[in-house]
Amino acid sequence: MADVTTCSGCGATIRWVLTIGGARLPLDPDPHPDGNVVPVEVDGKRRAKVLTGPEMPAEETAWRAHFTTCPKSAHFRRRKAAATPKCRYCETPLDAWLVEQGENRHVNCGPVLLREAVQTSPAGSSGEAGPVGDTLDLGGGEW
Ligand SMILES: [Zn+2]
Ligand SMILES: [Zn+2]
Repeated sequence: MADVTTCSGCGATIRWVLTIGGARLPLDPDPHPDGNVVPVEVDGKRRAKVLTGPEMPAEETAWRAHFTTCPKSAHFRRRKAAATPKCRYCETPLDAWLVEQGENRHVNCGPVLLREAVQTSPAGSSGEAGPVGDTLDLGGGEW
């Protein structure tokens, strides 16, 4: 009954299963040691049980929900726009998995990258370099 298809986010093969509660859940096709989704029988039907903290690690073969491994996991978890935390550096919305890990920025965003951007920008040709000139005093300041 497994519904094998392709993740529309990253193109990986995924299996759609039904949880005990009847929700559709995408799984990675292969079991994984860190998996927290196990098959159970409910009324003669196979359902997926998602293990929670005290039940981990799984004592049997377990799978991982694809949205925990999908590089496009935001695809699975659309949140209200107003509630979506934004990257503190680039101001675009953060992926759900980053937020869950307590991040407030993208992996590639950060003060180091900002500094590089400042240093490599051409000196003082356009108005957007204004604050940079104020702090770094890159030239022309001598009397
Ligand atoms: Zn995916
Ligand atoms: Zn960012």
